Amino acid sequence: MAGEQRLFIQSINPSTHTMEKVSPVPTDARWSLYEATLPELEAAMQQWGEPSFRARQLYRHLYSRLTSDIQAMTDLPGSLRARLLEETQAGGLRVVRERRTDDGQTRKALMALPDGVMIETVLMVYPERATVCVSTQAGCGIGCVFCATGQAGLRRNLSSGEIVEQVVWAARQVRAISLERSSHLNVVFMGMGEPFANYERWWDAVKRLHDPQGFNLSARKMTVSTVGLVPGIRRLSQESLPINLAISLHAPDDALRDTLIPINRRYPLAAVLEAARDYTERTGRRVSLEYVLLQGRNDHPDQARALAQRLRSLAVAGHALLFHVNLIPWNPVPGSALSRPERQRVLRFQQVLQEHQIACTVRVERGGEIAAACGQLAGVPGNKSA
Ligand code: SAH
Ligand code: SF4
Repeated sequence: MAGEQRLFIQSINPSTHTMEKVSPVPTDARWSLYEATLPELEAAMQQWGEPSFRARQLYRHLYSRLTSDIQAMTDLPGSLRARLLEETQAGGLRVVRERRTDDGQTRKALMALPDGVMIETVLMVYPERATVCVSTQAGCGIGCVFCATGQAGLRRNLSSGEIVEQVVWAARQVRAISLERSSHLNVVFMGMGEPFANYERWWDAVKRLHDPQGFNLSARKMTVSTVGLVPGIRRLSQESLPINLAISLHAPDDALRDTLIPINRRYPLAAVLEAARDYTERTGRRVSLEYVLLQGRNDHPDQARALAQRLRSLAVAGHALLFHVNLIPWNPVPGSALSRPERQRVLRFQQVLQEHQIACTVRVERGGEIAAACGQLAGVPGNKSA
């Protein structure tokens, strides 16, 4: 029996057992149901001598009813529930602390993974919709100077199940607030970590969230943000699901970008922009370019002009430029010497871009009071920012 179980674990998600050098493997010996695709659950049921429709029932509980309490799945026979309880778990993430602001419309959850590593997930509820900002890694190894997540380095990659479960947590919350809004949930992979540094597991999570037989989230409701890992951008352009792409730029030239994002030395601006342009050409989809505004570093009108000219030079003759710039006034990070530009300076930067016919918006932030805004997620329970 133990051999059988081992076999099954391997077929479910070998990646959770090869967590790379950065981390220990989660300690719970039971496998997580959130790691499995429907065919994998069907194979498991078959191995256990159960009819395969049991897998569909289980899948419905996990992704339509959003239940992770195996005991409450009373349409499953008692013997099956007992075995599931013994050998599996359906809730590897434990909410250790939840902070709320905006009248409960913005919520940040500090979650403990089975091995004790902490991550954060942020939910923002709006009148017509909700957005959940999901982590793809515990920490981040890129080390951008302006980002709280980058300061502590990388603890480990998240498994696909751990990424999926954050969305399930959010969907449960939204459903409790408003059934209607729960059908308008957007997922942005902009929490802790660099999604393209954990591409396989992250993409497995995207596919599972999209699965029409399960959570059934449209690809258009998912957005990934990358610091500019060129191989990831190219890989995404080949994928079948048309999710949205955002790329973090933050500077109009390499000399400046080198000082903000260490990985720019490996993937300089020209390579990132070329990959972005190829992506728009190949997919016909618009790409957002994120630009965090830092007082006195990258927020001068001349820098806006340089950025606009650089972007305009990428336009393919006869085609509209499929870029949209998203300006993000920097959110304070404890201990940082950087500062956030004044509103007027932000608007001036935007105006210069617009004068050069570059579509541009300023991101409206939420959650600054509970350190839940972009770049403030640290995943440290005792930390002021958590
Ligand atoms: N690693 C990915 C996604 C997570 S960060 C990336 O870097 O794109 C999501 C966005 O928040 C990025 O655009 C990032 O540059 C931005 N960000 C990071 N720290 C920030 C801060 N302190 N204030 C405002 N935005 C920040
Ligand atoms: Fe990592 Fe993105 Fe933060 Fe940079 S901005 S350290 S890539 S999470």
